[in-house]
Amino acid sequence: MSEQSAHPHAARATGAGGDPGSYGLLVAGEWRAAAGGARAEIRSPYDGRTVGEVAVASAADAEAALAAAERGAAVWRRTPAHERFAILSRAAELADARADVLAATISAENGKPLAESLGEARRSGALIRLAAHEGTQLYGEGLPLDANPGTGLDKVGFTLRQPVGVVVAITPFNYPALLVLHKVAPALAAGNAVVLKPASATPLTALALASIFVEAGVPAGVISVLTGPGGELGDALVSDPRVRKVSFTGSTSVGERIASLAGVTKLSLELGASSPTLVLPGADIERAAAAIAAGGYVNAGQVCISVQRVIAHRDVEGDLLDALRPKVEAIRMGDPFADGTTLGPLIAEREAERVAASIARAVDDGATLLTGGERDGAFVSPAIVTGVDTHHAFAQEELFGPAVAVTSVDSFDAAIDAANGTAYGLAAGVFGGTLAEGVRAMREIDAGSVHLGWTPLWRADLMPYGGLKASGYGKEGVRSTVQEMTEVKTVVMHG
Ligand code: NAP
Repeated sequence: MSEQSAHPHAARATGAGGDPGSYGLLVAGEWRAAAGGARAEIRSPYDGRTVGEVAVASAADAEAALAAAERGAAVWRRTPAHERFAILSRAAELADARADVLAATISAENGKPLAESLGEARRSGALIRLAAHEGTQLYGEGLPLDANPGTGLDKVGFTLRQPVGVVVAITPFNYPALLVLHKVAPALAAGNAVVLKPASATPLTALALASIFVEAGVPAGVISVLTGPGGELGDALVSDPRVRKVSFTGSTSVGERIASLAGVTKLSLELGASSPTLVLPGADIERAAAAIAAGGYVNAGQVCISVQRVIAHRDVEGDLLDALRPKVEAIRMGDPFADGTTLGPLIAEREAERVAASIARAVDDGATLLTGGERDGAFVSPAIVTGVDTHHAFAQEELFGPAVAVTSVDSFDAAIDAANGTAYGLAAGVFGGTLAEGVRAMREIDAGSVHLGWTPLWRADLMPYGGLKASGYGKEGVRSTVQEMTEVKTVVMHG
């Protein structure tokens, strides 16, 4: 995102039917220029062309959005669940109808192949619908107070589940639609106001989605979008006492900063990872290789649940690599909008430089580059690196790029130790092994999700989803998010 001066369209919002790439900030139900008048161009990571333009908010805009959100939250919490459900259902219909436009926006600003963007865009309506339903399920429970010694039948107690109020949602670049919706849709469904700060690289998808909620009838102030630098806006938003919930998805380093600033506020942190896939004797090697060839390279490996590490038992490693290599070499890099492209650029050239340097360092330190790993601008060709020591930075640190690190082990116990041997714990996959080993793997791998018979790269939008250890805390997945964005109040009637 590059900054430029005030623009004549600064206060104009456009969605389907208009110029899809020029937006103001969404604050208090209106599209407006940033207080300082700054605008920024959004560029394609593929060819650098300008694909849109947004306002650049500052702390003054954050203040205006929070004030509006506080007013919006007061209106929305008094709106019956069936009305919220109806509005969100309309938003889901609009998202379905605009899936093609959303997909084109995702590919333009993020660079992922159009087929992947279509998959993401087409999940959007369904995700909003699932969230809308969960917003109608804010059950409480009756309390058997008379079971408490000294308490009689003269009292009735129960719980109410209520929205927290103002939610701040901060999202990363890699899934510009789904990771926004995983926060915004449950927040709205549960009766909260939300202030969204999308990634600076991919704000256009977030703004297109926000337009959909506005068009569907979400009242003024209930949804706000601030585009601009995470450091400045993030600090202003997460430390504000009006904010009752901060929901962050992004890197562990930014998550740590948010945790230090948020104070006494509910917090969910969906952070980085170095996710393992175990391939054990008895694995269906073709299936494992096909799943790894997808799971390690989808979205150029820029997925928190990407297959970063393959932990292969020595007895099957050779067969696995023989099956995996041709599949990885068949991945086609190119224009995200061209038919047949299965790998786009990374989000920026400096990210490609970082990934290529990580691969080179692993090789310098004794690993073998089996295929790929060459950089061309923002592209890195899909790589397999074998003989990676599990303690090496290439296994320990999140790579977020199109490469898989293969580590050999001699036993099931060594595989579990390697799987658990990083600071992270987001997701893991296991192929093969005995039934007893599968049961041990699901219990003993320290990860928020464990997939038996698949890689970590799998998610259903309704399942609880979130990491352990340095991968964060709190769970997303519409039901879990609604729980985390609501409070339980205990009510006692004294007769
Ligand atoms: P990032 O650099 O941490 O940025 C994420 C968001 O935080 C962006 O909107 C960014 O704004 C904002 N931000 C930056 N500095 C901030 C600050 N001081 N306070 C508050 N917000 C701030 O992450 P990214 O590069 O976009 O995304 C990649 C990371 O996200 C990876 O580590 C990946 O594993 C993680 N991720 C995790 C999950 C999960 O579910 N666990 C899912 C997807 C991605 P700017 O863009 O303006 O800097």
